[in-house]
Amino acid sequence: MQIAQNSVVAIAYTLTDEKGTVLDTSAGGEPLVYLHGARDIIPGLENALTGKSIGDKLNVTVAPADGYGEYDAQMVQTVPRQMFAGVDNIEVGMHFQAQTDHGIQVVTVAAVEPNEITIDGNHPLAGVQLTFDVEVMSIRAATEEELAHGHVHGPDGHHHH
Ligand SMILES: [Zn+2]
Repeated sequence: MQIAQNSVVAIAYTLTDEKGTVLDTSAGGEPLVYLHGARDIIPGLENALTGKSIGDKLNVTVAPADGYGEYDAQMVQTVPRQMFAGVDNIEVGMHFQAQTDHGIQVVTVAAVEPNEITIDGNHPLAGVQLTFDVEVMSIRAATEEELAHGHVHGPDGHHHH
């Protein structure tokens, strides 16, 4: 069986950045299970997995445009500290959910001044070239229920939510 549209695929993976720093890995845990063709995973990785079989190993380098996007300086904004009323300690690196023109978005605190907070709406991995070391662990066809929902219901297709 080869990975195609609507395959439910389990992959073991290690994700590194340009410097070789490990950003994420399934090692020591469960493989990542996703629905192929549903944009569950970033396009650059999904495209590379099309047509692969169980046991295949691949090393995929994904440019930002096919990953979490280019870094957009316009998504960095300075807002009055009053917008964070009720938050006692605001620190660089904290994440908040913000209502924006594009819906609910996660923003990261980039700088803290006495009266102003700089927030960054870019994904933390925007602008980063990503390298995935991947092994295909299992492939099965999605169930009708999974296709109707547009997501995976666990390794065996049973409903868990
Ligand atoms: Zn569901």
